[in-house]
Amino acid sequence: MEPKDSAFSRRGVLAGVALAAQSGTLLAQSKGVAPGRKFRGWVSRGAGPGRTTLQDLTLRPISGRQIVVRTEATNLCYSNSSDVLGLPPPGLPPAAKDAPPRAVPPAFLAMSRMALIQGHGGVGTVEAVGPEVRRVQVGDRVCVSGTPQCGSCYQCLRGRADMCQFLGRQGPNDLVPIADMRDGTPVYANSHIGGLAELMVTFEEWVVPVFSKASAADLGMVCSCVSVAGLGCTASQVLADVGIGSIVAVVGCGPVGLSAIQGARIAGASTIIAIDPIRVRREVALKVGATHVLDPNVEGDKLVEKVRELSNGPNNRLWAGGRDSGGLLGGAGADFVVEAVGADRAKPKLEAGPDPTGILPIQQAYMMCAPGGHIVTTSLPTGNVTLPAVVFTIGGRTHHAGQYGGANPMRDIPRFVELLDKKQFDAKSLATTIVPIEGMLDAYQQVIDRTTVTALMTA
Ligand SMILES: [Zn+2]
Ligand SMILES: [Zn+2]
Repeated sequence: MEPKDSAFSRRGVLAGVALAAQSGTLLAQSKGVAPGRKFRGWVSRGAGPGRTTLQDLTLRPISGRQIVVRTEATNLCYSNSSDVLGLPPPGLPPAAKDAPPRAVPPAFLAMSRMALIQGHGGVGTVEAVGPEVRRVQVGDRVCVSGTPQCGSCYQCLRGRADMCQFLGRQGPNDLVPIADMRDGTPVYANSHIGGLAELMVTFEEWVVPVFSKASAADLGMVCSCVSVAGLGCTASQVLADVGIGSIVAVVGCGPVGLSAIQGARIAGASTIIAIDPIRVRREVALKVGATHVLDPNVEGDKLVEKVRELSNGPNNRLWAGGRDSGGLLGGAGADFVVEAVGADRAKPKLEAGPDPTGILPIQQAYMMCAPGGHIVTTSLPTGNVTLPAVVFTIGGRTHHAGQYGGANPMRDIPRFVELLDKKQFDAKSLATTIVPIEGMLDAYQQVIDRTTVTALMTA
């Protein structure tokens, strides 16, 4: 027995040793800060095409929980394309030349007047940390996550880090200047992360250390907002727990859907039905784990029925664990459906889907789900969803609105990197365009044209 208050107790000695070893993490770090550092970044300001230009910038001093990351790679996310390329907001056709100006929300207007480095995060190496930073050290390889995780807000404490309340702290009054242009104009980072620059200046809440030797492009892909969201849907087990032998349908095979397919395969799904109008994307889907592919333009009104047929299984005997498609609500359908389509920001140069607003695919996703099944939606559509009310009220389907696919960044991003390192996640089939910083705009055009699966900028 150890005397409880003895300074020489075994437990007390061990605690002392542990404290000494941890002192580096208990005391604030304060090193590597490099004020005046020059770097290049794509700065967006104003309206219309041409709003984003490559600029020489000077880093401002950092403080508190700020972190400077030297960018290795950043994903050119489709959702960010309007802001980068100056396209009209999703759902709105380009305004006619003589049309009166549209009413623009004040926050949007304020944001468009600021000089902003766009981007949804990326991967890189920590170059400097503020004195209060604990999660990472100078020299660490990190993911600058599209979604923060503070660990202490209402949502983080309830297991929904994908809804971390710091997500709502990215308005024009929340952002802080991180650099200056040659003419002295202050420059800000989109969502406190940026990405389309040689440096990302962010806060501790957005940074996840990753211990991997993967190439910049492969790591940038698996840590991208799109792949984390897709893997989150099917492999994080936060929103829906995809089980072995289950039937998964993925509507939309962009980088989110193709990551969700891989997550479903890794989680042990036995039937994975991938749906996309673009032939090349259906081919990639088969390569990364889909067992069946469907073209929504070919299937038309029969798409839902086709998924139900593929989900029937070998046995429809109700006394033997089977299910049938009869009855008011039907028994067939996918156990899990991931919807990852969204509204077109521009007319695709490859095969266009059946609905540019992205609403029809959501309705189809809901209806192709089996009673008792789960639907995870991830997209940015425009408009209102209409569903048969009786299926919605008593149809047994559970809908999850999956910001980041429900992923818990600090826990899940290292797990997803492990899937890359152990060759379970195929990053190369998704990152079909990789450009240096100078090629960013051309690569973004390919993303908006949908002529590439997704693109990465390396810096
Ligand atoms: Zn994104
Ligand atoms: Zn939080």
